[in-house]
Amino acid sequence: MMDRPWAMNLGSIGMIMAHEMTHALDIQGSLYDFKGDLRNWWSESARKTFTDKSQCFVNQYNSYRFPEQNMTVNGSLTLGENIADNGGIREAYRALKAYQKQRSGQFERLPGKMDQFDEEQLFFISFANMWCSNNLPNAVKKTLESGAHPPESVRVDGSLANFDKFSDAFHCKPGSKMFRQPEERCILW
Ligand SMILES: [Zn+2]
Repeated sequence: MMDRPWAMNLGSIGMIMAHEMTHALDIQGSLYDFKGDLRNWWSESARKTFTDKSQCFVNQYNSYRFPEQNMTVNGSLTLGENIADNGGIREAYRALKAYQKQRSGQFERLPGKMDQFDEEQLFFISFANMWCSNNLPNAVKKTLESGAHPPESVRVDGSLANFDKFSDAFHCKPGSKMFRQPEERCILW
């Protein structure tokens, strides 16, 4: 959309594009080479680092509980999507920084009450707003059982809790839900 701050486009469609590109380097995509052939082109140590860092995401997402369904997210089943979500939001944020640099200090805001939010905040609000949804309990159960993606709320919470720029933008303090200690944060791309 041309008539709203670009930070919002980068947080939504920009993040989706970055998410899709990151799939090339998720648990499945990484098995293929640049031509799309199934071929191991990674060193053993790179593969080991990748596997160790992936395990961080598995543990993190396994911990998201849904009391109504009496279930948790399956961190292994959703790993590829979670890697793409976490990489995607970071890459899109880098695009925001590059865009801001081009405009050297001219920042865009929304009108009215929304003008309290700066571009970094609008970027994250737009990302979260994209996944705003209200699903029936049975649909959530189905997603938890067999979906490649975790429920939408976890797609937002999981990737933003790992991202220091989000904590900075909204001044999240240690101990709050969206703040993970730096050593606990899962980061791959
Ligand atoms: Zn995906």
